[in-house]
Amino acid sequence: MERILVTGGAGYIGGTAVAQLLAEGYEVTVLDDLSMGHADAVPATARFIEGSILDAAKVCEALDGASAVIHFAGKSLVGESVEKPDLYMHVNVDGTEVLLSEMKAAGVNRIVFSSSAATYGEPKSVPILESDATAPTNPYGASKLGVDHLLTKYAKESGLGAISLRYFNVAGALKSATGWLAERHEPETHLIPNVLRSTDASPLKIFGTDWPTADGTCIRDYVHVVDLIDAHIRALNAITPATHHIINLGSGGGYSVREVIDTASKVLGRTIAAVEVDRRAGDPAVLIASIDKAGEILGWKPSHNLEQMIADTKQALDSRN
Ligand code: UDP
Repeated sequence: MERILVTGGAGYIGGTAVAQLLAEGYEVTVLDDLSMGHADAVPATARFIEGSILDAAKVCEALDGASAVIHFAGKSLVGESVEKPDLYMHVNVDGTEVLLSEMKAAGVNRIVFSSSAATYGEPKSVPILESDATAPTNPYGASKLGVDHLLTKYAKESGLGAISLRYFNVAGALKSATGWLAERHEPETHLIPNVLRSTDASPLKIFGTDWPTADGTCIRDYVHVVDLIDAHIRALNAITPATHHIINLGSGGGYSVREVIDTASKVLGRTIAAVEVDRRAGDPAVLIASIDKAGEILGWKPSHNLEQMIADTKQALDSRN
């Protein structure tokens, strides 16, 4: 079976990819600098190289024996990106340039990239199509867009086969052979983990109830991490040489913050303590993906619903307490 290099494979989404690849019989190498990831998340059956994508020698070592790359490594906090835009462009764009140049030198010519809906910015209409204009509203989104442009250039000039997957809101968790793989951020900013953590003493904050939506709260498109990774493995096998495809990954539908709270309340069988506060800076009102292209090119559609995302996130968080 072929060996896949997973950059950022010690993190939440990358770690889920590693577990699913191993379960499907792939051999896996992980390259991760552990700036966000955790070494204990890397299974013993994967080869682990601790290092940054900016370090050409480490990238070269990690590519040994690999036939393709799934590239998750990078800085991923929107708020931090506003404070440190240069750091985000350096790690995400320059780091990918190092990776692509080492791939070329090693003759590895297939890559699946973890891009983001943040490349689109505030949408003019929903659902968002891959052909829609890109106008990121923060340096994180700009850095992901920078990588997408780099991949287009390499596909044209060097024959690279690339697929960028633009994630909408990823949630849920995988129970792997070594246990539940969950998000581990401190402070946690994402809605579903915060809903699950909410208590009377420390209630969930609802960021804005005056948005132009039916119930006044923001609408997002949530996709289960297991479905998301399934799309990556399909993408590995759908790559065509000298071509760069950009594909959205979401559910094609949306839930408001209040609908997420109500669904969690049903799943947990209790009320969720919540307080209404001001809007959070930089939030668009509605983000919903068009997922037709994922269906056409990858033969993919998600199979987990919001209840399952919430239930699995809960099990993963409980397993750590
Ligand atoms: N949100 C919220 N309270 C929280 C975290 C998030 O009301 O504690 C809202 C946020 O304003 C957005 C939605 O929930 O409308 C999803 O936010 P998240 O940070 O999970 O993902 P994002 O869409 O920002 O990537």
